[in-house]
Formats: sequence, structure tokens, C-alpha cells
Amino acid sequence: MILSLLGSWTRRRRVSERLPVAPAPVAAAVTLRHSLQLRHVDAGSCNGCEMEITSVFGPVYDAERIGARLVASPRHADALLVTGPVTHNMAAPLERTYLAMPEPRLVIALGDCARNCGVFAGGYAVAGAVRDVVPVDLEIPGCPPHPDDILAALRRFTNR
Ligand code: SF4
Repeated sequence: MILSLLGSWTRRRRVSERLPVAPAPVAAAVTLRHSLQLRHVDAGSCNGCEMEITSVFGPVYDAERIGARLVASPRHADALLVTGPVTHNMAAPLERTYLAMPEPRLVIALGDCARNCGVFAGGYAVAGAVRDVVPVDLEIPGCPPHPDDILAALRRFTNR
């Protein structure tokens, strides 16, 4: 009996991390109405940033509870979530993906590579940072950024 009660309590207890006080919203948050649909683009990442994005949308950090969702098409997206330095091969696809989004076409550059090419700066395959190809609204520093920092950045858009 006690073991069964304990098992039931264990199954029901909270999994996700508690959220701290919400950070200050960005100006675009007014039009987003607490919802942020994100199209992720890997422009040349080592996949370290993708592992942290996976964590952010997993059960522990659970970004959907603050209104952020990953979507499969730029046509359905409010913002691009771009990782990695932009390689020569990905510069045109990144720009086309940006142009396929409806207004207001927000862009979040996630990780040091997206911000300034990071450890790949000067590489033969690197065309530049994300802001060299499309306008960037918010940068998230780190190599890779911690899920807490990614979640805090997304909360600035959803204002939740
Ligand atoms: S910022 Fe770091 S983890 Fe992210 S793509 Fe660059 S090297 Fe990889």
C-alpha cells in the first residue's frame, strides 16, 4: 500500500524546472500575443547548439509551456532560430527561408557561431555570421548556450 502510494506520488511530481521571473520583453512581443512559432535552421552548426535546443523543448525545460513551438515550415513561423556560422552552401537557403516567412520575420541567432562565427571564424567554408545574411533581432551567446539562457531569450518574445 505504502509502496503504491509512493509510486503514484513519484509519477505525479513535477518534472520541469520552475521558471524564474520573466525577463523584459522585446518590442515585437506585443504583436506575437504570447505565442512564438519557430523554424530552426542549421546554417553550419557542429550540432552542439541543436542538443541544447532539444533540451529546451524536452520535458525538463519544456519551452511549449511558455508559448514557444518548433514548426516544420517557414510559412508557419514567426521567427527563425538559426544555429552555426553560415556556410557558403547555406547562405542562399537561409535567405530564401527568411523571405518565405510572413511578417514580422524575426530572427534569433543562437550560439557564438551564429553571432560571430565562433570557433569556425576564418574557415574556408564559412560565409559569415547570421547577421551578414539576414537581419537579426536577438542573439543568444554561448558555445553552446545553456538551456536556461535559451528559454530566457524565448520568454522575451512570448512575454510569459
Ligand atoms: S556555438 Fe559552439 S556548440 Fe554551437 S555550433 Fe558553434 S561550436 Fe557548436
